[in-house]
Amino acid sequence: MRLILLGPPGAGKGTQASRIVQRYEVPHISTGDIFRKNIKEGTELGKKAKEYMDKGLLVPDEIVVAIVEDRLKEADCKNGFLLDGFPRTVNQAEALDKVLENMNISLDKVINIKVDKNVLVDRVVGRRICRDCGATYHVKFNPPAEEGKCDVCGGELYQRDDDKEETVTKRIEVYLQETTPLIDYYSNKRLLADIEGEQDIDKVFEDIVKALGSEK
Ligand code: ADP
Ligand code: ADP
Ligand code: ZN
Repeated sequence: MRLILLGPPGAGKGTQASRIVQRYEVPHISTGDIFRKNIKEGTELGKKAKEYMDKGLLVPDEIVVAIVEDRLKEADCKNGFLLDGFPRTVNQAEALDKVLENMNISLDKVINIKVDKNVLVDRVVGRRICRDCGATYHVKFNPPAEEGKCDVCGGELYQRDDDKEETVTKRIEVYLQETTPLIDYYSNKRLLADIEGEQDIDKVFEDIVKALGSEK
């Protein structure tokens, strides 16, 4: 299954991605995670990406497209993949089409998680992530059993630098301007599956499975 997850910051892409990749046995490719890993390791790419991420702006298309192209050519993507947070502009989507065409493969579905703007800020500001395994929690909506500690691995939970209210508002604005045109782009290609994101995490996942079908 070759999939894209679309949705504004806080829609629940990462949360659903971890379930989708288990269920359909495809690798999870999150461009945000790739950048955060590079920032942590202090690479040149990380330094460059951080300038944009801290301001809530998008990293330039050519940087992101090159990373995704390399990643899609790795062996574990042979039977499918889940792209999370990419593409984010029409230019990135067109570049992805070319990459896939050259590889002689095509997308199966674009899952569009819909959540109203006024819910997003609360979701993002309350997000906490495990330093060790990357599991995502929410202080109110999806709290760990023990405060500040990961249920899965016991790791320490932290808040992302760009999950502060000022940056979140900017990121939502950028999404509305740069990324919403992709909804029409993929709808015209008959690939879009709209999913109601303002439901329980389990119910959202159920709807995604319904849209994708039970086959791997
Ligand atoms: P995204 O990757 O789209 O930015 P996340 O999956 O990280 O979104 O979710 C954002 C925050 O909202 C996290 O703290 C997560 O625990 C919480 N969350 C995710 N899905 C739901 C949901 N269906 N209902 C309530 N909170 C949710
Ligand atoms: P969220 O899941 O909350 O939407 P991400 O982890 O996907 O956030 O992205 C965090 C930041 O990383 C973005 O605000 C942006 O600066 C950068 N980024 C991630 N993916 C892309 C992309 N495809 N194009 C440009 N910038 C990106
Ligand atoms: Zn953990």
